[in-house]
Amino acid sequence: MPAERSRPRFPAGPPVASFTLHGIPVSRGIAIGRAHLLAPAALDVKHYLVAEEQVEAEVSRLQQALAAVHKELQTLWNELPKDAPTELGAFIDVHALILSDPMISEAPLDIIRQRHYNAEWALLTQIDELSAQFDEIEDLYLRERKADIQQVAERVLKVLLGTEQMLPKSDGGEDEFQPQMIVVAHDISPADMLQFRDRSFIGFVTDVGGQNSHTAIVARSLDIPAAVGMSGASTLIDQDDWLIIDGEAGVVIANPSALVLEQYRERQQAAARAKKKLQKLKKTPAITKDGTEITLLANIELPDDCPAAMEAGANGVGLFRSEFLFMGRNSKIPSEDEQFEQYKKAVVAMKGRPVTIRTLDIGADKPLDQSEQTALNPALGLRAIRYCLAEPQIFLTQLRAILRASAFGKVRILIPMLAHAFEIDQSLAMIAQAKAELREQNIKFDDGVDVGAMIEIPAAALALPMFVKRMDFLSIGTNDLIQYTLAIDRVDYEVAHLYNPLHPAVLQLISMTIAAGHKAGIDVAVCGEMAGDVKLTRLLLGMGLREFSMHPAQLLSVKQEILNSDLARIMPQTRKIMRSMEPNVIADAVEQLQLM
Ligand code: PEP
Ligand code: MG
Repeated sequence: MPAERSRPRFPAGPPVASFTLHGIPVSRGIAIGRAHLLAPAALDVKHYLVAEEQVEAEVSRLQQALAAVHKELQTLWNELPKDAPTELGAFIDVHALILSDPMISEAPLDIIRQRHYNAEWALLTQIDELSAQFDEIEDLYLRERKADIQQVAERVLKVLLGTEQMLPKSDGGEDEFQPQMIVVAHDISPADMLQFRDRSFIGFVTDVGGQNSHTAIVARSLDIPAAVGMSGASTLIDQDDWLIIDGEAGVVIANPSALVLEQYRERQQAAARAKKKLQKLKKTPAITKDGTEITLLANIELPDDCPAAMEAGANGVGLFRSEFLFMGRNSKIPSEDEQFEQYKKAVVAMKGRPVTIRTLDIGADKPLDQSEQTALNPALGLRAIRYCLAEPQIFLTQLRAILRASAFGKVRILIPMLAHAFEIDQSLAMIAQAKAELREQNIKFDDGVDVGAMIEIPAAALALPMFVKRMDFLSIGTNDLIQYTLAIDRVDYEVAHLYNPLHPAVLQLISMTIAAGHKAGIDVAVCGEMAGDVKLTRLLLGMGLREFSMHPAQLLSVKQEILNSDLARIMPQTRKIMRSMEPNVIADAVEQLQLM
C-alpha cells in the first residue's frame, strides 16, 4: 500500500533526546520527516534524490569522476618540469592519497546507496563531515589538511559537472527507500530554495529569516510547512534526527515521543482531508454572498508554477516574479530569446488568462549573485526599477522579451518599487522604445499591453494622483509596503515581531490606494502576502479590494472565505477599523470580522 509505505517510519533503537524549538511560522501544515542538514557550501551544488533503479548508475558516475581525477593528477605529475620545486610533486602526491582514501573513494558511494543522494550531494555531505572532524584536530599542520581535502573535492565536482544530466530523478513518495526530508540550514537563499522542488523535500527550517523574506515566500509557494528564525536549529539538530514541523505555530519538535508523533499524524490527516474538500471549489466563481465577483490571481516564480495556478482555478497570474529567471546564474543575464521563451511558456500555459509579468526586481534579499552583495543597506539601495534604469540595456532586453510574449496571449507589465514621477516616465519611455524597435523589426507584439505600478513604497501610496494619471493599473506590494512603512527589514528575524500588517499606518496606505484606484477607474490588486492570508480576506474586501493575487496553494482557502462573506455586513465594520488608531481595537475588530 503506497500510502503506508510513504509514511515515515519511526526509528527503532535507543531513545534520543527530544527538544522543541520556537521560531517564525512561514508556511502552514505539518511535516514529519528526517533532518537533512545543509552546510553553506553544500548549497552550491544541486540536491536531488535518484530513483532506486538509478542508484548504481549514480554510484558509477561518481566512481568515474574519481577515476578521471586520478588520471588528471597522474598527468599533472608526469608533466611536472624537471626543475619544478619538490613541494609541487609532494602536493600532487598528497591529493592522490586523499583521493584513494576510503573516506573519499568509498564513503560517498555508500551515501548514494543508502540515502539516494545525487553524486555531488553525497560527496559534499562526506566532505562536510570530514571537515568538521578536521576542525577538532589540535595539530595545526594536520588541521590545515582540510583545505587539501576540499581542493580534491572541488576537482571531482568539476568533473561531475560535465556529466550532470541525465539520470531520472526520483519522483518521491512511492519508493520504500524514499526518505521524507526536512531541510535544516542556517539560511537558504531564494534561488537555492527553488532547487528543492523535488517532492521528497517536505519541510524547511532555518536559523534566520523573516516571515515575508523571499526565501519564506518561495517555501510558501512550494506549499510545504516551513519555519524560520529558529535560532540555533542548524547546530542543535543532528543529521537524520526525526523532526516535526508545526508550520502553523512555527514550532519544530526534534525526536518526538511516539505519543506526540501520533497526535501530529492525526492533525496532518485532518488537514489533508480539509484540503481535499476545498478542491470542490476549484470551478466555483469567487462571488460574495451579496453577489460581488472577486478576481483571484496567482503569484508565480517560474513558468513551471502555471499548472498549479490553473489547477487552483486562478483567473490569471497577478505577479510573475521574473527575477527568479535571473537568479542563481552567477550573474549571467538570460538572453532576450531565453526570456521570451519563458514568458511565452507562462502565457501559453495560462490559456488566455492574463499574465502580469513584473519587471526585474533584483536586489535586497534577491541579489543577482549572492557573492556580489556590497550595498550597505541593500533594501534601500539599487533595487528593482532603480537597478533597471541604471542598467537600461538589461531593462530594454527584458521589455522586448515581455512584449514579444504578448503576441501569444494577454500580458500586463508591472513595474516594481516606483516612487518618483521620473521613474514612471522613464519606464514608459523604455517600453515605448522597446515597442518601436520591435515594430521596426516587424516582430509581433500587443500594442495595447497594460502597464501597472507596484505600490510598495509609502511615498507612492501618498502620491497616488501621480500614478493613476500615468498607469493602467496598480498592484499593492504589502510585503515591502510594511517593510518600508515600519522601517523593518523583512529578512531580519530580530525585528520580525514588529512586522505588523495591521499597523494603522499600513492599513491607511492600503485603503487610500484602493480608493484612489476606484476613483480613477483603474484596477487595484494586492499581490503581497496579505492577499493570501484568510484572516485578512474580509478586511481587504471591506476596504473595497476586488483583486487578490497569491500563491496558488492559498487560493481556494481565500475563495472559501469570499463565498462566506457578506459585503453589506463587512463594510461598516471595516470603516470602524479604519477610523481607529488603536492596535488592540483594530486587532479585536478584525477578529470580529471573521465571525460575521
Ligand atoms: C511585495 O513587496 O509585497 C511584493 C509582492 O513583492 P516582493 O515580495 O517580490 O518584494
Ligand atoms: Mg516588493
